[in-house]
Amino acid sequence: MKLKGAIDCLREGGIPSDSELTELLHVSDCCEAEEYLFKSAREVRDKIYGPTVFARGLIEASGYCKNDCLYCGLRRSNGKAERYRLTKDDIMTSVCAGYGMGFRTFVLQGGEDGYFTDEVLSDIISSIKDRYSDCAVTLSFGERSRESYRRLREAGADRYLLRHETATPEHYARLHPKEMSFGNRIKCLENLKELGYQVGCGFMVGSPYQTDEDVLRDLRFIRNFKPHMAGIGPFIPHGDTPFKSFHAGCVGLTVRCLAIVRLMVPDILLPATTALATLSDEGRVRGFLAGANVVMPNLSPEEARGKYSLYDGKKNTGAESAEGLAILESEALSAGCRLSMSRGDHADMRKY
Ligand code: SAM
Ligand code: SF4
Repeated sequence: MKLKGAIDCLREGGIPSDSELTELLHVSDCCEAEEYLFKSAREVRDKIYGPTVFARGLIEASGYCKNDCLYCGLRRSNGKAERYRLTKDDIMTSVCAGYGMGFRTFVLQGGEDGYFTDEVLSDIISSIKDRYSDCAVTLSFGERSRESYRRLREAGADRYLLRHETATPEHYARLHPKEMSFGNRIKCLENLKELGYQVGCGFMVGSPYQTDEDVLRDLRFIRNFKPHMAGIGPFIPHGDTPFKSFHAGCVGLTVRCLAIVRLMVPDILLPATTALATLSDEGRVRGFLAGANVVMPNLSPEEARGKYSLYDGKKNTGAESAEGLAILESEALSAGCRLSMSRGDHADMRKY
């Protein structure tokens, strides 16, 4: 079979040539090589975590953002965005409801909103940890100073998601305004790792101007950085951003990237993202079949869900909502996995 050697090389911890990797990224859906790639990815995942998909409760805490990333509907220049912010009470109510449903990891995410100072966030984190001591708290509030990350860690935060977005500095500059730098993004990721967080990086597949070389650099970056988690999902345009006329990323390419990352970093926690599920009804299941093992259904208050509009058509009902756990469970089952509500720590840091 063509490319078997390249897939076996990945399985053995090696890295195939750039031309083989590029070919692997673009094999056709359901061909023999793709089937072997996905089967290998599942075997590697199952050896470490079992055939398990970990569910995290996602709380989208703020639709305000001081940044102006060109791809994102929350960017500050989008005058049409309906902004909202959850209070500590709102967040605690969502956590309480999620705890009752069985969630043991809560992901608090939001734009870079000046309201969420270290004091405000630390208070929320420590309240969650005091009341629900068997739970993990993941944060995703963008770039902050090392000191800020240190304080939030001290308050009890366990994990932090900050996608690198692209490992090519010139590409980074085309996706972001001048005041944001690739160097600072990488520095933030290094700081988070040093401070003992379980750290997630990641990138969008098919973001504007992305080339095959950029994707290869993203894959190599992840292989070298060895994050605990990686968020890899397709780019989807938002009608009120400068990138409104670009095409969405490809579902097939996204799932092949997931499988390659699974082979490159076997113990990584890898979500089947909401963006993947938004682009295709089978997106999530295809993600699980390619070695993904995390899902993050939405636990935000109902009235906030539609307002956290990163891209057009973002799903927040059915299996993308915390209330849709039964659907999620059957989707996991159809991919040969069981849904777990446990903390789902990285293999190096398992507590429960
Ligand atoms: N503000 C924080 C940050 O940027 O890290 C956390 C929230 S941000 C909305 C989370 C992720 O959403 C980003 O890292 C980005 O990759 C993704 N995202 C934003 N706009 C998107 C789009 N149009 N299509 C797909 N993903 C998008
Ligand atoms: Fe803000 Fe994050 Fe969107 Fe960038 S990606 S505009 S930092 S919410």
